[in-house]
Amino acid sequence: MNTFASTHEVDNQSTPLCDYNVYTTNRALRDALAFHLPGADEAPRQALGASMGSAAMQQHARLANVHTPQLHTHDRFGRRVDSVEFHPSYHALIGAAIGAGLHGTPWAHGAGAHVERAAGFMMFTELESSVLCPISMTYAVTPALRSNAGVFGDWFGKLSNTAYDPRPVPVAQKAGVTMGMGMTEKQGGSDLRANTTRAEFAEDTPWGRRHTLVGHKWFMSAPMCDAFLVLAQTPGGLSCFFLPRVLPDGTLNAIHIQRLKDKLGNKANASSEVEFTGASAWGVGEEGRGVQQILEMGTLTRLDCALGTAGLMRQAVSLALHHTAQRKAFGKRLVEQPLMKNVLADLALESEAATALALRLARAFDRQHDPFEALMRRVLTPVAKFWVCKRGSHLAQEAMECLGGNGYVEEGGEGVMARIYREMPLNSIWEGAGNIMALDLLRALRRSGKGNDVADALAAELAPARGAHAAFDRFVATLPQRIDEASDETDGRRLAQDVALAVQAALLRQHAPDFVFEAFCRSRLGGDWGHAFGTLPPATAFDPIIARAMPH
Ligand SMILES: Cc1cc2nc3c(=O)[nH]c(=O)nc-3n(C[C@H](O)[C@H](O)[C@H](O)COP(=O)(O)OP(=O)(O)OC[C@H]3O[C@@H](n4cnc5c(N)ncnc54)[C@H](O)[C@@H]3O)c2cc1C
Repeated sequence: MNTFASTHEVDNQSTPLCDYNVYTTNRALRDALAFHLPGADEAPRQALGASMGSAAMQQHARLANVHTPQLHTHDRFGRRVDSVEFHPSYHALIGAAIGAGLHGTPWAHGAGAHVERAAGFMMFTELESSVLCPISMTYAVTPALRSNAGVFGDWFGKLSNTAYDPRPVPVAQKAGVTMGMGMTEKQGGSDLRANTTRAEFAEDTPWGRRHTLVGHKWFMSAPMCDAFLVLAQTPGGLSCFFLPRVLPDGTLNAIHIQRLKDKLGNKANASSEVEFTGASAWGVGEEGRGVQQILEMGTLTRLDCALGTAGLMRQAVSLALHHTAQRKAFGKRLVEQPLMKNVLADLALESEAATALALRLARAFDRQHDPFEALMRRVLTPVAKFWVCKRGSHLAQEAMECLGGNGYVEEGGEGVMARIYREMPLNSIWEGAGNIMALDLLRALRRSGKGNDVADALAAELAPARGAHAAFDRFVATLPQRIDEASDETDGRRLAQDVALAVQAALLRQHAPDFVFEAFCRSRLGGDWGHAFGTLPPATAFDPIIARAMPH
């Protein structure tokens, strides 16, 4: 080109963050895993980490978000088909997640399988988060299905198999299956007692009591799953049902997809509104105890909300660090500017603390029969879901700002930061929004009563950090009394926040370097901190914290 006609050269722009290993470059995750699973083989994580950071998989993630799912209610002859068509990249992603055993597989394995799976789930989130919706639901549903032995016998092997098989055929012909859930109706999502869908007994079958369902669900994500757990009213009260999409004789069940939601983010995943016009469904668990039954599943999807958000936070911090390490302004790389160091270090602390808390919660699911871990599941599930998800949106906004204007631009799906930002609020809303989590924590504390086994368990959980930092000791001193007296609903969020911060600090003490623990305690627990990221005190060890988090 004629040099007089050229307007500019592209200079001082960062490169895409791709073809890197999201596992080996994540010190916080590796150190937490070394703590929870010492001596475990790292090779499978390294292989997954390389795949999750590869340009080829990132291209699938982009395409699956740009070419969003399309609903076909009828074929061109007017017959109902109730089918959602996905881009091939969606299938490639979901096949990879199932291949990695992130769905029902851990239930077929022994100790450690849930922590391993949690790490894989976080790494996959760094690639693409929305396709993990049916993966998470399939993981969560598997133990709840045990309450129907006939269904469990026919479905378990396929829920845990690592083969992806999207064909709409009866379970007997499938290599692998996925499952979703339908609870939320128009008149109530948090308050499930408001459900109006009705179930009428039809006949006894090898899968137990078959019912017919009439009603609707206002949100039912991933409607191409092979089956769903749903709630419906019976004469005995609200009950839980197993609802397959294709019936054993090969006909489509009467699940009519009305439309797909037009969502802020979560673009690659389809979320539908459905009506049941006499759909066949089989009871799971005791009639009238549907909420308890389905919440067994909800507890696990809440774990995944915390894990998924921690993964997205790590991805956002990696992108911010990668960019600021290259971009120059006012004579220095951004990462060298003192105030930007404060922002980046603060984000890195938040991300590491989220990773620590989410993985700790996953460990509680690995020890199903340990009474201490049962208490930790009960308390830390709402705490982690509440706190990690609340911090996610805030962190994403600040990480986006580190990229300046480019952070806000989509550019045909290349704008991964914009995708992360749009995804973040979802984990906080679905599976029990923030207030519901705080109220759930209060319920857990109240149930254990005075002189309280939860307070004792939390004290044991926090013990390894006692005496290690004055701010920590001061912060946790009042917790037992607050737990004992937990009754005021208006205090629910504060209590959830403070339990989260205390447990995060105790974990950082055990598997992060001292400079991370010190900065976390001083800012989050000691109050030497502002109301925005980038307000750590000047004496903070900015450089080591940033170096630890750098994704290369
Ligand atoms: C993209 C997407 C996909 C979804 N997929 C599914 C799905 O597959 N299956 C499914 O069943 N659902 C699904 N949902 C629904 C989701 O779980 C609900 O939206 C959520 O549980 C909240 O219910 P709601 O929308 O009825 O809001 P409400 O229950 O009306 O709650 C509104 C607000 O009030 C608060 N609140 C409620 N009760 C109290 C109280 N007692 N005290 C203080 N505050 C309170 C809540 O915290 C919330 O902030 C999906 C939602 C989204 C956005």
